[in-house]
Amino acid sequence: MLRCPYCNVNISTKTEVCPLCHTRLTDVGNSKEDIKRTARAYPPRGDLPPLSGNLFDKIYIYSWLCLSASFLISELVITHAARYSWIAISALLYFYILFRLFIRSGEYFPQKVTAHAIVLTIVIYTLRSVLPEPVIILEYILPVIYLVSTIAIAVFLIVNFRRPNRYLLNIITVALMCSIPFLVLVILDEYGNFWLSLATMVIGLAVIIGTVAFKAKTILSELKRKFHL
Ligand SMILES: [Zn+2]
Repeated sequence: MLRCPYCNVNISTKTEVCPLCHTRLTDVGNSKEDIKRTARAYPPRGDLPPLSGNLFDKIYIYSWLCLSASFLISELVITHAARYSWIAISALLYFYILFRLFIRSGEYFPQKVTAHAIVLTIVIYTLRSVLPEPVIILEYILPVIYLVSTIAIAVFLIVNFRRPNRYLLNIITVALMCSIPFLVLVILDEYGNFWLSLATMVIGLAVIIGTVAFKAKTILSELKRKFHL
């Protein structure tokens, strides 16, 4: 029988990490031999069915790299500057990530929304060179993305209020992102139209304060679990 000293539980199945706290069992006094001797409680995982993604991923990434290189080289040769290729390159990457996030991955909805917001930020950042006024990224585009993401997760949380623990870190992450556009505008000293980004920051902070006020304990234990503290 294996034992996790952190959670004080006995583990009756062959495993390298504690199923509760994810501590590596070999690091805390269980030898590799102990693990080997423990019986399996479930059958070993079989092979993945053929053509289940890995091939698609390889083909997509390979074609994406080839296409990106040819876009960049041809634009550099023709116009001596790379501006518009970035749109095609980031659009192709974005479609791939959308496919992975919303069709093939087993993550839950708040994680998907958070990852999507981060990916969109990167994609939009690559587009700044083709926009006539790049500052609208900070004034309008990013605030709208972060607001919609925060609202989507908040609605999900309210609907799934029975098991909110796992989603709290996601809502805090997107709510923190809500402050980015306004802070960057301030740092860049751009005071054109900052109202939307300011409102986004205020809403994000309100969401954080609300979440922490109601669920401080759960957030703390969730943080500990995530970072193995
Ligand atoms: Zn444990």
